[in-house]
Amino acid sequence: MTTILNGKLISQQIQDELFIEVNKIKAAGGKVPHLAAILVGDDGASETYIAAKIKACEKAGFKSTLIRLPITVNEKELLIKIEDLNNDEDVDGYIVQLPLPRHIREHKIIETISPKKDVDGFHPQNVGRMALNLPSYIPATPFGILQLLERNNINTTGKHCVVLGRSHIVGAPISILLSRNGVPGNCTVTLCHSRTENLIEHTRKADILIVALGKPEFVTAEMVKEGVIIIDVGITRIASDKTKSGFKLVGDVNYEAVAPKSSFITPVPGGIGPMTIASLLVNTLKASKKEIYG
Ligand code: NAP
Repeated sequence: MTTILNGKLISQQIQDELFIEVNKIKAAGGKVPHLAAILVGDDGASETYIAAKIKACEKAGFKSTLIRLPITVNEKELLIKIEDLNNDEDVDGYIVQLPLPRHIREHKIIETISPKKDVDGFHPQNVGRMALNLPSYIPATPFGILQLLERNNINTTGKHCVVLGRSHIVGAPISILLSRNGVPGNCTVTLCHSRTENLIEHTRKADILIVALGKPEFVTAEMVKEGVIIIDVGITRIASDKTKSGFKLVGDVNYEAVAPKSSFITPVPGGIGPMTIASLLVNTLKASKKEIYG
C-alpha cells in the first residue's frame, strides 16, 4: 500500500500551531515574530516563492517585510541593506531570495547575514553547527523533510538513505542531518551527484530515496526497490496548455510509475514545497524567541 506524504496538510497543521503560539505571545504582550525578505530583480519563480512565504507569514500572524531591489543593484548596495537588517532590532530573521544576479557574489552575501538572523540556515556558522549537531538554524527544505518524516512517524534509524543531488541548500545538508545521531536520523547515507557511477545500483538499494536534481521525472520505476520511501524535492516549471498560468510543476520522480512501488511518496506540488515554507516560519519563531543563540 502506498501512503502519500501530504506536505500541504502537514504544513497547514504547523502553521495553525504557529498561529496559536503567536496569539499567546501577543496576549502576553510579547513581540510578534518578524520575517524580512530581500528580493533582487523580478524572476517569475522567485516572485512566486516569496509571495507564498509572505502569505504564510500573514496566515500564521507573523509580521513580514518585503524589500525589493532592482536587478541592477550592486553588491555594495545589497551589503548595506543586509547590514541594516542585521542592526534592525524589530527584524527577528530574514532571507535573501536566491538565485542572485551573477554580478553579486552569493557567498559574500550569505557570510554577511548575521548567523542569529539567518533563518535560511545558509551561513557557514549555522552549517558548521548543524554538522556538529549543535543548535542551529536548519535550512528550510531539509528541515521540512525532517518534519514530514517525523510527523508521519517514519522510523529512519538503521535505514539506508540515498540522496540524489549535493546542493548546499538541499542534498548536502539533508545527507548530514539524516546521518546524525538523532531522530529523525541514524541513517546510513549515500550521497550521489552527476559524477556518480552506476547510479541505479545505488538508488535500487535505497530504503529512503531523496531526490533534489531539478531533472523532471528523472527517477523511474526500475531505479527503485519495492517499499521505498520517496521524497521528491524537485520542482521544475514546464509549459502546459492545460493550466491557466501556462505552466505546471513537475518533480524529479516519475510519480505515476514510482508510486505503486513505494510505501510512502511525496507529490509535486503539495509535498516538500509547502513544508519548506512552514519550516522557514518555525525558524523565524525560534529567532524571535532567541532559542538558538540566546
Ligand atoms: P542544484 O543546485 O540545481 O543541483 C543539482 C544537483 O543534482 C547537483 O548536485 C548535481 O550534481 C546533481 N545532478 C545533476 N544531474 C545529475 C544526474 N544525472 N545524476 C546525479 N546527480 C545529478 O540543486 P537544488 O538547488 O537542490 O535544486 C534541485 C531541485 O530541487 C530543483 O528542481 C529545485 O527547484 C528544487 N528545490 C525545491 C525546493 C522546495 O522547496 N521544494 C527547495 C529547493 C530546491 P553536481 O553537483 O555534480 O553538479
